[in-house]
Amino acid sequence: MKPAPFSYADPDSLDEALAVLSAEGEGAKVLAGGQSLLPLLNMRLAAPTTLVDINRVPGLDQIEAGGSGVRVGALVRHAALLRSAEASAVQPLLARATANVAHPAIRNRGTTVGSIAHADPSGEMTAVLALTGGSVTVATPDGTSSVDWADLFLGPLETSVHGPAVVTSAFFPALAPRSGTAFAEVARRKGDYAVCGAGVMVTLDEDRRVASARVAYISVGLVPEVHDLTDAVVGRPVDAADWAAAGVMAQGLVDPDGDLHASADYRRLLVGALTARTLASAAAEAQERSA
Ligand SMILES: Cc1cc2nc3c(=O)[nH]c(=O)nc-3n(C[C@H](O)[C@H](O)[C@H](O)COP(=O)(O)OP(=O)(O)OC[C@H]3O[C@@H](n4cnc5c(N)ncnc54)[C@H](O)[C@@H]3O)c2cc1C
Repeated sequence: MKPAPFSYADPDSLDEALAVLSAEGEGAKVLAGGQSLLPLLNMRLAAPTTLVDINRVPGLDQIEAGGSGVRVGALVRHAALLRSAEASAVQPLLARATANVAHPAIRNRGTTVGSIAHADPSGEMTAVLALTGGSVTVATPDGTSSVDWADLFLGPLETSVHGPAVVTSAFFPALAPRSGTAFAEVARRKGDYAVCGAGVMVTLDEDRRVASARVAYISVGLVPEVHDLTDAVVGRPVDAADWAAAGVMAQGLVDPDGDLHASADYRRLLVGALTARTLASAAAEAQERSA
């Protein structure tokens, strides 16, 4: 199918983009990589009156990796983030999760920030933003503000960013000392959206015992879900922690739906298995980083 008619603007500054979004009202949509929006248009699941293409806006394609975390500009492609050794060194979960986003052709064009703004509960980067305690910066005609992940995701494909607004960057805090991460998912075919996915973060105390274990899931709830599993493993040395027990604990905390791709029971089973596996791997990394 072809999209419904729309007008197109490709402003060359952020101010101009915001002015067009303001003038066009609710019918206008930001276009970044187009890897989610254009399929929706082609299937006529969305019919914006105007697309405001931000690809010519300067300054939005930067990755800034520093001591406190990684700031990813709105035009940074998934592939660029995946390749960034600086970003991986500061927050290794970024590359680990991005490697699971779609296929190389889509990663070459799709943006990390677009993925977050799209708020698909199956999107890997929404979970990474949540698990790392990240935030986004939003520009509107009235100024710029920061929106914490917990205030951002309202439901499937729905965020708290409304009206004339451009998400200019996403910020992912750095991995804490003595910590490790892992990401794993199950998809019907490599590159497909996950049937279930888990990103985890484990932190050890100074005696190299588990101090915290947290997990974020994709394709399990309507928004990215973060759960604290520390109680199942706290105080244990890495090789004596019962990661399977943490998986069982997680199964009691989630409430997945069944759909065409997987039943609710199968998703719950995957939650247990992926949680146990990724926690063990993240803990081993935390131990290595503590040495
Ligand atoms: C076959 C296929 C498989 C895929 N598999 C996966 C997968 O496994 N995991 C995954 O996470 N994604 C997957 N995707 C989606 C892909 O990752 C997209 O790149 C991403 O979801 C959206 O980024 P984009 O830059 O393409 O955004 P666009 O398609 O341009 O926009 C998506 C939405 O976000 C809004 N938006 C985008 N950028 C901004 C901004 N800066 N400010 C405000 N609003 C903005 C748009 O208005 C639109 O509503 C897949 C896509 C395809 C076609």
